[in-house]
Amino acid sequence: MDFLEKIKSKLIELLDVFNPEVLFYYLAVAGGMLVIELLIVGWPKSSLRRIFSFNGSVKTDVAFFMLDVFNLYSLITVLLTFGAFHVLARVVYEMSHFDLIYTIPGLPLQFLVLFVVVDLKNYVSHWVFHRVDALWKLHEFHHSATEFCMLTRYRGHFLETAMKRVFDVIPFAIFGSIESYLAVTVLVEMHQLALHSAFTSNWGWIGRYVLVSPAAHRIHHSAASKHFDRNMGNTFIVWDRLFGTYHPPEHEVDLGVEENPYNKHGLLSDILSAYKRFFKALKASK
Ligand SMILES: [Zn+2]
Ligand SMILES: [Zn+2]
Repeated sequence: MDFLEKIKSKLIELLDVFNPEVLFYYLAVAGGMLVIELLIVGWPKSSLRRIFSFNGSVKTDVAFFMLDVFNLYSLITVLLTFGAFHVLARVVYEMSHFDLIYTIPGLPLQFLVLFVVVDLKNYVSHWVFHRVDALWKLHEFHHSATEFCMLTRYRGHFLETAMKRVFDVIPFAIFGSIESYLAVTVLVEMHQLALHSAFTSNWGWIGRYVLVSPAAHRIHHSAASKHFDRNMGNTFIVWDRLFGTYHPPEHEVDLGVEENPYNKHGLLSDILSAYKRFFKALKASK
């Protein structure tokens, strides 16, 4: 398939609103996790109760989830950026096909290397979106949730998602892909939902040294300045340990950002506000 053909097939995929596979994927994974959480924490603390109460920052989370369910999130992301970052990501991918994965012996090891490299890439891109002021203005939108309702996982600014695509292709541009890799995305998604849920467990030594626990991600979303830029790992907490950004979980944590400008004037206003704050910071940095 040549470059133009690939862009064409991507466009067809993007315009496929009401795609039953996408719809089923989101409803099954998030729905399943919502039920599991309900059974563990009970109705009063559950994300489902928060979703049905439809208050405060939860409204935005539900709206973003629905955009994903109906396959509209990606379409809006492309439209708002004129597809520039998608094309850039594709160019990076096409120009650097090193297929290093085939230098690694055996599928299990190939899988492990790719998974670890993808997670390191997630840590690095997350770090960049925290530490570059203009980019933080976009990522701040994810952090502006003042409570977790599991669907907070889907609250993310379109421009951030578009830019991150360029990061996302790097591991695959270097290593190439393996078919079985997709199988793990459901597990990663379930983990991400758990991180934005009513669970507050620190997962003991696993949460201290191996995986990001719900309690550790609460620190990441804390509104207290002593917690800023801590626990930026996606799946493994190991990166935070290695690069000195780990902060142990604490009991009571207020979620949100300093002087939270979000969740007051509606979704559209919040998205535009993040854009404005991004361009203002970009101008100031020159
Ligand atoms: Zn963050
Ligand atoms: Zn988060």
